[in-house]
Amino acid sequence: MTLLEIHEPGETPLPHAGEETPAIGVDLGTTNSVVAVARDGKVEALRDDHGKALVPSVVYYASDGAAAVGSAAQARQAAEPDRTVSSIKRLMGRGVADVTEVGGIRADEVEPGSGVTDMVRLRVGGRARTPVEISADILRTLRARAEAALGKTVERAVVTVPAYFDDAARTATRDAARLAGLEVLRLVNEPTAAALAYGLDKAVEGIYAVYDLGGGTFDFSLLRLEKGVFQVLATGGDAALGGDDFDHALAERALAERTARGLPGAASAGDAKSALLAGRQAKEALTAAERTELTLALDGGTSVHAIDRPAFDGLVAPLVERTIAICARVLADAALDPVDVNGVVLVGGSTRVPLVRQRVAVLFGKPPLADIDPDEVVALGAALQAEALTAGSDTLLLDVTPLSLGIETMGGIVEKVIPRNTPIPVSLAQEFTTYQDGQGAMALHVVQGEREMAADCRSLARFELQGIPPMAAGAARIRVTFTVDADGLLTVAAQEKTTGVAQRVEVKPTYGISEEDMARMLYDSLEHAEDDMEGRLLVEARVEAERLLLALDAALAVDADLLDGAERTDLDADASRLRAAMADTDREAINAAAQALEARSKTFAERRMDRGVRKALSGLSLDQLESKVG
Ligand code: ADP
Ligand code: MG
Repeated sequence: MTLLEIHEPGETPLPHAGEETPAIGVDLGTTNSVVAVARDGKVEALRDDHGKALVPSVVYYASDGAAAVGSAAQARQAAEPDRTVSSIKRLMGRGVADVTEVGGIRADEVEPGSGVTDMVRLRVGGRARTPVEISADILRTLRARAEAALGKTVERAVVTVPAYFDDAARTATRDAARLAGLEVLRLVNEPTAAALAYGLDKAVEGIYAVYDLGGGTFDFSLLRLEKGVFQVLATGGDAALGGDDFDHALAERALAERTARGLPGAASAGDAKSALLAGRQAKEALTAAERTELTLALDGGTSVHAIDRPAFDGLVAPLVERTIAICARVLADAALDPVDVNGVVLVGGSTRVPLVRQRVAVLFGKPPLADIDPDEVVALGAALQAEALTAGSDTLLLDVTPLSLGIETMGGIVEKVIPRNTPIPVSLAQEFTTYQDGQGAMALHVVQGEREMAADCRSLARFELQGIPPMAAGAARIRVTFTVDADGLLTVAAQEKTTGVAQRVEVKPTYGISEEDMARMLYDSLEHAEDDMEGRLLVEARVEAERLLLALDAALAVDADLLDGAERTDLDADASRLRAAMADTDREAINAAAQALEARSKTFAERRMDRGVRKALSGLSLDQLESKVG
């Protein structure tokens, strides 16, 4: 794959003369968030009084509406679950239809008529709040931490997002920052930020991998570094796989031991929660220690469970293998072998687990890069990028589209305009045509996904190109251009080439696609590749047949008199046989019936042609006739 041409980084505001306000780097994580700042190329994560950089991404809403963020909120989570919200990142850019509940909190429907979007809201702390508002509360805390540390107002930031975040989720992240009083200089993909933190932009050119195992999500990305520019070649992951699952495995094991000892198990939600917490503590202890004890203090009594590293490794090995399988798939997707990778960056707290490091080292045949704290590395990279952008640097980051973008065509088939994993910014166009004679408008349906049928993809936007002059079916040439900018946001433009009639839409996301959806859509496309092909061929056969019937109807409307009674009956019979075949799903039968009708109408078509020629020639003088014939 060759590097794209480098465009000007259009959206980056130039620093105003004399402006001193620093720009911060923010890793807005599912489990934890971090804020960092770079000054003169030196970068640091900003810490609290206890030296902790990690801010748990948990928000607590007091009865007076005040928000507490981080450890303080986490501490109240068990006691006041209906006032606390966590993992809100999973809902960024998601619609009401996508979710009904998160972390035990009910998602409320937005009141009808509130306009804007059908963004999901959560009822928490006695009020319905959007993920954008809740994320803004986390961002406000990070901003305040930065202002306190720097002694200056902070109004600009580089914020990181998962590489696969779609339009809606990116827009929601940007909106959240704006709500918190932060202008987003650039949304940077998390793996790219991690690579920047390691200074890989100044390293040997080649392929780098980023393995990010956090609390609840796993992301794997392949970057290509060329001439100091990163291009995300491919990404993959599992939105429901992370350190939480390790906690779960440990808790289950301890609960099973309890049952075997004849003690009562977890009786309440509170019990389950405290078992998970004990699992997490044991897991984190086992990173440094060879053995530890897991204490279950439940309503039915306290029990102590010894566990050593090999037993833990055995428990989590299947989970770790799932991440390795994903790495292998993404590599295969990009047609690369593990040996092609120059370096592997570890990101996310769960990459501290020794088994994870071992398995990654084995897969790539080299030890991964892990000198920088894996929880902080993304924020550090974002801070470096923030400094570079405010200093007017022209470092341009290239990313890829996580899912294919396309247009729905006749019969609900998707014509992909920008395929998945295309580096951005990018602008690609494709030509479409009208289907019926004199068609004056064309409805364009923009979809995202890997499946062949629009109904199986995500609908992003609909718009209509109007004012197409009357032309025969297939004569209009409509050029549809998809443009994805450096932040991953899509614009679609359509133009009828012969007349210049044009339409353009910014694809305002119909909030939104979920991470799980995204992963599922990718897996589905692989699983259903064969069904899809068959489905596509069937639809194509139907569309072709429909076209034939339309043409026949149009011909009969003008020239029916060219047929005698018997011929007309035969033709009608063949046409209804075709209609009957189209109602069924046998593609071969449709094609056969269409061919029969086509053959049957041949004589009719010839007679029409004769008449057409005669009509064209009538009224011409002999001279003209000769020149026409000659
Ligand atoms: P996210 O990107 O989802 O916000 P993080 O990168 O902060 O998450 O990772 C959080 C996860 O890392 C949690 O599951 C936590 O238990 C795990 N973790 C943190 N420290 C350790 C450790 N020392 N050993 C094992 N796991 C750890
Ligand atoms: Mg993370």
